[in-house]
Amino acid sequence: MPEATPFTIAWVQGLTCNGNSHSLLNYTQFASFCEVFSFLYHPLFPSPFTLKALMDSPAAIDVLIIEGALSHDASMIERHGMGLDEILGVLMPRATHVVCVGSCASFGGVFKERDPEKIMGGLFRGEKKGGFFGDALKTLAGNSLVNLPGCPVHPSWVIETLMLLKHRRPLVLDTLCRPKEIYAYLAHHGCLRNEYFEWKVDCDTFGIKEGCLFYEQGCQGPMTHANCNKILWNETSSKTRVGSPCLGCTEPSFPRQTLFLTPKYMSLPAVPVGISRRAYYALAGVAKGFRIERLEKRLMDED
Ligand code: SF4
Ligand code: SF4
Repeated sequence: MPEATPFTIAWVQGLTCNGNSHSLLNYTQFASFCEVFSFLYHPLFPSPFTLKALMDSPAAIDVLIIEGALSHDASMIERHGMGLDEILGVLMPRATHVVCVGSCASFGGVFKERDPEKIMGGLFRGEKKGGFFGDALKTLAGNSLVNLPGCPVHPSWVIETLMLLKHRRPLVLDTLCRPKEIYAYLAHHGCLRNEYFEWKVDCDTFGIKEGCLFYEQGCQGPMTHANCNKILWNETSSKTRVGSPCLGCTEPSFPRQTLFLTPKYMSLPAVPVGISRRAYYALAGVAKGFRIERLEKRLMDED
C-alpha cells in the first residue's frame, strides 16, 4: 500500500512566549500526530527547512500556522532579518489554509496591550475587526482564516481542527472565525460547580472544591466560549475543577485588567451570555432564598 502523503505544516511565530507550541507538546498522542502531519518548518521542533530555506523553496504548504501577535513594524519583530510583512507575504500565497493559534495571533492578546496601534491579531485588534490582514482573509484556495484562541490554545483544539482540514470536512466558524465545534460551548458547560452556580453558593477562596467562582472570584466561565470543561487539559482537569476562575482567555477582551474580580452593579454581578438581566436576577433571587444543606458541606468530609 503506498504511504499516505503527510499533511504539511509551516509554523511561523510573531510576538509570542511559545506557550502554544509548548501546549501542543503536551498532546498525549503527539507521536501519532507526527505520523500524519509533517512540519516543514517549526522554530522549536525538528523540521527539514530553516525559515529562510522554506521561503526560498517552492514547497506548497497545507496549513500555515501563526503563533503570536503580529505587527507591520519590522523594528518591533523580525526573524532572520525579515519582518512579518516579508515572511507572510511569501508564505501566505502558498498556503491552502491559515490558522492563528492562541489569543495573541487571533486578537493581539497580551502583547497588544503594550501598543494597540501597532500590535494586533490576524483579523482582529481585540474585539475590533481589522488586524494584520485586514478583516476578511481568504487563502489562495479560497478558505477563510481560522482562529483558535486560548492562552494557550488547548492542544486538542489544534489537532481536531487540523484533522478536519486534512480530511476536507466542513469547518463551521463563528463571527470571530472560531470553529463552532469547539467554541460554541461555554467554559461553564461541564464545570463541576454548576450546582453551586444554580443555587448561588459562592466560593470564598481559591483551590477548594466547593462553591462557584462567579460571584466573587471573577470566573468568566458563563461568558467564555471554549470546551475546556468537556475536553480536559492533559485529559485530567481544568481551571475551575482545581478552584481557579476561568480568565476568559478565548475571548477578544482577554486579558481584562481585573482578572480575579467580578464586576458588580449595586452588588449584582455581570450576567451570563444569552440570558436577559431581568430573567437572571429574578432566578438568582429565588435560588438564593433557599438553603441547600448539602451544598454547605465540604465534599470530602466524612459523615
Ligand atoms: S466556577 Fe465558573 S464555570 Fe464553574 S459553575 Fe461557577 S461560573 Fe460556571
Ligand atoms: S478555563 Fe477559561 S481561562 Fe482557562 S483555558 Fe478555558 S477558557 Fe481559558
